[in-house]
Amino acid sequence: MSAPATSRLVVLAGPTAVGKGTVAAAVRADHPEVWLSVSATTRPPRPGEVDGVHYRFVSAAEFDAMVAAGDLLEWAVVHGTHRYGTPRAPVEAALAEGRPALLEIDLQGARQVRETMPEALFVFLSPPSWDELVRRLVGRGTESEAERERRLLTARTELAAETEFDVTIVNHEVRAAAAELVTLLTSVSGRQR
Ligand code: 5GP
Repeated sequence: MSAPATSRLVVLAGPTAVGKGTVAAAVRADHPEVWLSVSATTRPPRPGEVDGVHYRFVSAAEFDAMVAAGDLLEWAVVHGTHRYGTPRAPVEAALAEGRPALLEIDLQGARQVRETMPEALFVFLSPPSWDELVRRLVGRGTESEAERERRLLTARTELAAETEFDVTIVNHEVRAAAAELVTLLTSVSGRQR
């Protein structure tokens, strides 16, 4: 009998509004065997977001306590405003169960995971073009003008980081991008560079 394959951890990053959340949700909808990390955040919920499903919405004090206790695998201030972090224990539990695990986080977080879990596969989701990225951010309509400007500024830096990643998926269309991601999550463990 062959040894059980070590389960794979995939870190998905990419610029704001490229569709990371939508692609991750599509993966989860079609492949319930893929475990998707639920981040903690100090950002208030948007309409329709459910605590414990989309995020764990926590106070600044609660977030401080998680950091102090070492409960977060990584964390970062994103877009210069709120803090976001990946609770460590659920990731370890999912991998121990042998489930392919997906983290959808920002670039700063991906760099931290690269330090602590270099065996993970780092996937960059890129937009078909800069104009398309701006169109998606404006079309989403969830941010104020000032917040949009801030996020586009971050996006410029984030796009330049593509070369740090193992694989790029261009998000032309959500289902196709999700299918590419599932292939990476479920292919033989170990990084294939
Ligand atoms: P949003 O506020 O639109 O839900 O997310 C803003 C950004 O935070 C996205 O780029 C998303 O990838 C990032 N993000 C979400 N969860 C985490 C996390 O746990 N850690 C880090 N570093 N970034 C995260």
